[in-house]
Amino acid sequence: MPRRKGNFWFAIGDSPWNKPLRLALAAVLLLAAVLAGLWLRQYFSAGLQPQSLTACYVHGEHMRLYFRDFAPENIDLQAQDGTVYRFATDSRALNEGMTWIDMPDGLYRLSGDSLTLKAAPGYAQEGYSLTRRGCNRHWRLYGSRGDLFLFLSTVEELPEDVYDVIIDAGHGGEDSGAVNGSLRESDFNLQASLYMAELFRQAGLKVALTRDGDYSVGQEGASAGQVDPYIAGGRVDTVYNSGAKYLISNHLNASSYGNCRGYQVYSSVRCDNRWAELTAAAWRKAGMAANDDFTGLVENGAYKRYTREDPQTGSDYYYILRECGGLATSPRRMLAAGTREERELFAGAEALLLEYCFIDNDQDLAFWQEHWQALVKAAVDAALEYWQL
Ligand SMILES: [Zn+2]
Repeated sequence: MPRRKGNFWFAIGDSPWNKPLRLALAAVLLLAAVLAGLWLRQYFSAGLQPQSLTACYVHGEHMRLYFRDFAPENIDLQAQDGTVYRFATDSRALNEGMTWIDMPDGLYRLSGDSLTLKAAPGYAQEGYSLTRRGCNRHWRLYGSRGDLFLFLSTVEELPEDVYDVIIDAGHGGEDSGAVNGSLRESDFNLQASLYMAELFRQAGLKVALTRDGDYSVGQEGASAGQVDPYIAGGRVDTVYNSGAKYLISNHLNASSYGNCRGYQVYSSVRCDNRWAELTAAAWRKAGMAANDDFTGLVENGAYKRYTREDPQTGSDYYYILRECGGLATSPRRMLAAGTREERELFAGAEALLLEYCFIDNDQDLAFWQEHWQALVKAAVDAALEYWQL
């Protein structure tokens, strides 16, 4: 029989292994077809296709990624040398997201539970981490050729309008806050904030203040009830414009009868309690006792207080925690101020609201007047520890 060249089946036709070999090849082809079919079925039905990024929120120095109908348990960042940095994403706490503190500069490709992650063409978001050892990390998250990448690079200096931390001296101007005789909370808050700014600058950080004098933030001469934190130059607007990763709002407390004593530390209901715990412990060491008398107590003078109207929504009672980092409830007003457009804004500065003592309690006031610098220093040291500086 003439051999027909180019036909594989006839090429092996003369071999004594003819029959078994044909059978084996047919079996392999069949198996491959079945496996390909199964893979395709899984690809289209069980979500093996690349997942598209729908939102990226940066809270403090922590980033969280959101996808439509997909919540990965882990996100892997693979460096060009093959090293993989894995971040568990099971925590709901906003300060438990991905952070670059322990990662070297370079390009990383992202995947979630082994699936390819991608972003819309042209998508890019960027920012900076805290100043560490005189340098900052610039990060850029972007989509390219069907993949999602993160690029980290060290920069010598932050841009002019970007800060590490912003300190808020509560009240000011017509709004004195709590009082004891002629002594005003707003004055003590300013004194504490200016000293706090000095200490953070000594630690190498770039510091902004919401106010550095006795005036209403954003609305000169307005009374407390009239002050709108969303307007241009208002507290919320000022915090976002600073680009700061962290915010500390300084206050002194007051109670109805002047019979309460001790410190309170408020952190966002959307964060875990670590930063507040460190601050509370530092204050106890500095000689101030915890006040555990109020709504929202977690433990040892550390509080998480929900809005009275709807405790189920999980938003913070204090606007400075809620609107500047946790859950912005008035983004339209912020948009008007040129800030953000998302309805739910799980992004911004991670914040603490500090109540150092009760100004209307004479013993607390006396302790504050003698030891206020030690208490401010204790809060600064706790923050530096929390920020791993
Ligand atoms: Zn206050």
